[in-house]
Amino acid sequence: MLPLIKTSIPPRETLMPRLEEVLYSGYVAQGDVVEQFERKFEEYIGGGHTLSLNSGTAALHIALILAGVNEGDEVISTALTAEPTNVAIKMVGAKVRWADVDYNTGNISADSIEKAINSKTKAIIVVDYAGIPVDVKRIQEISQKYNIPVIEDAAHALGAKYNEIKTGNHFPFTVYSFQAIKHLTTIDGGALQIADRDLYEKGKVIRWFGLDKKLSRLDNDITYQGYKYHMNNVNATIGLVQLENIENIIQRYIDNGRYFDEELKNINGVELIEYYPNTKPSYWLYTLKVENRDAFVKMMSENGVIASELHKRNDLHTYLNDYPTELPNLDAFYGKMVHIPCGWWVSDEDRAKIVKLIKSGW
Ligand SMILES: *Cc1c(COP(=O)(O)O)cnc(C)c1O
Repeated sequence: MLPLIKTSIPPRETLMPRLEEVLYSGYVAQGDVVEQFERKFEEYIGGGHTLSLNSGTAALHIALILAGVNEGDEVISTALTAEPTNVAIKMVGAKVRWADVDYNTGNISADSIEKAINSKTKAIIVVDYAGIPVDVKRIQEISQKYNIPVIEDAAHALGAKYNEIKTGNHFPFTVYSFQAIKHLTTIDGGALQIADRDLYEKGKVIRWFGLDKKLSRLDNDITYQGYKYHMNNVNATIGLVQLENIENIIQRYIDNGRYFDEELKNINGVELIEYYPNTKPSYWLYTLKVENRDAFVKMMSENGVIASELHKRNDLHTYLNDYPTELPNLDAFYGKMVHIPCGWWVSDEDRAKIVKLIKSGW
């Protein structure tokens, strides 16, 4: 079966000597290698400050804290995402206020965000779903107009671009995940890309129990809640090796995505996703809207290709559904959406086969 997601680990000859070195170096905790990984990641993103962490969920949690979200506040979010996006809102004691998606893209709708804003709104989380950048321009405008910070959950969108500039540079906080199935994996891990230097310094303290690593343990005085969220030298070593080849890996997702954009045009029963102006997706998944989805999934599966929705819409989770909301665009989108394999493991033959299957009907 051709899978929808697959873990990418560098070749043994490249990775193992570096791993062996760090494992027996006597220093496997957070040290210089973590620092090196952060500086390299900043270079890759092309701006901001990288706070490396042990998960993307930790990055969401710290972003919400740095954005000043407290108990009883509200955060506007989308239900079309992986659960951590919205579970993190509950971690700071805030409530999730749903905005609808844009039917053409599956991403959070700027109009719907604006309608959902009220006096309790303290942050907006936007997700570049499946690697498709959000409507950056309009969301930046809303953020400025109402003075509400935006957290971009770019766990699906490493290497995606707006105006030729990578995700990580468009909002005060951008979240990355290095979990097993993401574009770049450190096995587990994450990063929060932070625009502001002072908030970055505060983030470092929050990720380490509220302790400042620049001071000795005895000189430290904890004045607010911190967590154990830091990355370690072992995961950072894997991250450094991954970064050496990340452009090639992501380019293969993009090449496959663009191939599908061209080849799946004008097919009966298929609607393609649209992209916002001046955006370049990094196609973590390739999403289609199809008529008669169950039959589509069955036909693909009978021919050796996995197709699926992958995520459950988050408003169907009782604990996350603080304010049950009519989401007509999401209803329409979710009723038809399906992902097909698009990543680095999809060969030229595989993608040609997928197109042929879809053209043959279901
Ligand atoms: C994977 C993912 C996360 C969380 O990342 P972890 O590293 O698993 O904590 C957050 N948001 C989205 C959209 C994700 O896909």
